[in-house]
Amino acid sequence: MKIEHDVPLARYTTLGTGGPARLFARPETLAELEEALGIAEREGVRVAVVGLGSNLLAADEGVDRLVLRLAGELSAISVAGERVTTGGGATNAVVLHRARDAGLGGFEFACAIPGTTGGGVWMNAGAYGGDFSQVLERAFVVTAAGSGWLTPDELGLTYRRSALTDGQVVAQVELRLVPRPPEEIKAVVSELQARRKAAQPTNKRTFGSVFKNPRHELTSGRMLEACGLKGHRIGGAQISPMHANFIENAGGATSADAVELMIEARRRALEGYGVELEHEVRFLDLAELPPAR
Ligand SMILES: Cc1cc2nc3c(=O)[nH]c(=O)nc-3n(C[C@H](O)[C@H](O)[C@H](O)COP(=O)(O)OP(=O)(O)OC[C@H]3O[C@@H](n4cnc5c(N)ncnc54)[C@H](O)[C@@H]3O)c2cc1C
Repeated sequence: MKIEHDVPLARYTTLGTGGPARLFARPETLAELEEALGIAEREGVRVAVVGLGSNLLAADEGVDRLVLRLAGELSAISVAGERVTTGGGATNAVVLHRARDAGLGGFEFACAIPGTTGGGVWMNAGAYGGDFSQVLERAFVVTAAGSGWLTPDELGLTYRRSALTDGQVVAQVELRLVPRPPEEIKAVVSELQARRKAAQPTNKRTFGSVFKNPRHELTSGRMLEACGLKGHRIGGAQISPMHANFIENAGGATSADAVELMIEARRRALEGYGVELEHEVRFLDLAELPPAR
């Protein structure tokens, strides 16, 4: 397994921002993954995993870590009965196709989530009433100290988060799906994708929802829209004119530009609605946002 140096993370995030990773590797087997984690431990370097980088803001100055992107066997998919086993690096789109071809439903909610199954478990990603916790049987989690299968309860899956921490790599994911005719799956997916296209900027560089929805009658998007933030721009980052809970790379954006926009959005939501918005996007070596007040 090759260890590369100074690999720009902007290539690996959907927003297209982020400085270089000091070390970068693409383990293709469990043995290579364990080797990578062992190297990191010996060298005293922290580990980070990047899936499709669709919910990730990485520091512009770079990341002093070994960044891993799962490949090969660690992104493969197999189907046996009603069980779909994927490497943590498998993309939701390909998993959904394989499940549909096998006549297995229940994963349709992931059709518009442009991530990997490892990232999906980490974030308990979900949409349209479904999420990973509802279809996940167990996940194989690897650390430098050892590995094992964990159930959804042990993974601590709640709204858009898990209890997983740095250094825990989701190497394999077992989904339990249900028999469903491929035509029915296709129809549901087409409908969900059309709804998504009508409501969200699907053809722009974004990282998905910026903030979790608060306990409030307004969603984050509606609240930020009411604060007059649609189209608000700082540097190369802009609050989507289509949906105010998205930040777009409008050209030459940096992660710092996106963070500045988030700070402004939180300030306005607190001022207008007394709500302190919590970000959904994961920060990689960026300082946490300051208090909104
Ligand atoms: C256009 C768009 C629409 C979106 N819509 C939705 C939506 O409807 N619902 C939703 O929930 N999300 C949505 N997202 C956000 C994002 O796609 C999901 O959170 C997705 O699950 C992230 O997966 P990823 O593989 O890209 O993870 P990344 O963004 O690469 O990483 C996210 C976090 O997971 C960790 N991680 C990734 N893979 C692993 C692994 N194998 N082992 C351990 N840790 C890992 C990373 O270290 C990081 O902390 C959207 C994003 C975009 C750009």
